[in-house]
Amino acid sequence: MVIEIKELIFRRRKGFCLRIDKNGDLIVIAPLYATDTDIKSVIQKKANWIIKTREIILQNNQKCRPLNFEPGESIPFLGEYYTISYHNDRNIFVDYERKIFFLPFSDQTTLKRKLMKFYYQKAYELLKEELDKWSNIMGVRYRTLRIKNARRLWGSCGKNASINLNWRLILLPKEIIEHIVIHELSHLVYRNHSKQFKYFASQFSINYAEKEKWLRENSYFLQMFRD
Ligand SMILES: [Zn+2]
Repeated sequence: MVIEIKELIFRRRKGFCLRIDKNGDLIVIAPLYATDTDIKSVIQKKANWIIKTREIILQNNQKCRPLNFEPGESIPFLGEYYTISYHNDRNIFVDYERKIFFLPFSDQTTLKRKLMKFYYQKAYELLKEELDKWSNIMGVRYRTLRIKNARRLWGSCGKNASINLNWRLILLPKEIIEHIVIHELSHLVYRNHSKQFKYFASQFSINYAEKEKWLRENSYFLQMFRD
């Protein structure tokens, strides 16, 4: 199989660096004196990784479609998909049993605003609860929780023991939310991603590696509700 290179960059460096951009195209950064044969052999060796990574990126792009708020359309909430329906009320109502989001009749802009406000509120309630629960279990103290609208991050841990969490976490399954909460709380003990950090975090977040993999493969949730 031939794998096409979209961009080949030569740099003064020792090894190769392969990257797949957001369109799924391959970018190769090669050492200055790399020959055609070197480049071909690196790509051959990394073929599996290239194909898999490209597939994940393209799938993510496809899943991240803009919402039209039409009846029957599905929207994510706590790791499940809910169907959109309408009702004669100004507020959003969620039927958890039947997995239906009842929205008020309104224009798209208003609906989006209302829905995001709803998500935000739910995110704050749940994340606060999870943070309090896990900080007790883990024996670490955080000072403040801020709900963020970050572009790339699910969470971060600032100075003075403040924890920032992305409101889009409310779209993900509960065990992934817990995983992120544990991850950020672990930063209060280890301010890096060292082995010790991972060991500490994985004592509380079971199947740590599996959850990290899930996050990589489902990064499109970070792009939702942006348009
Ligand atoms: Zn981290």
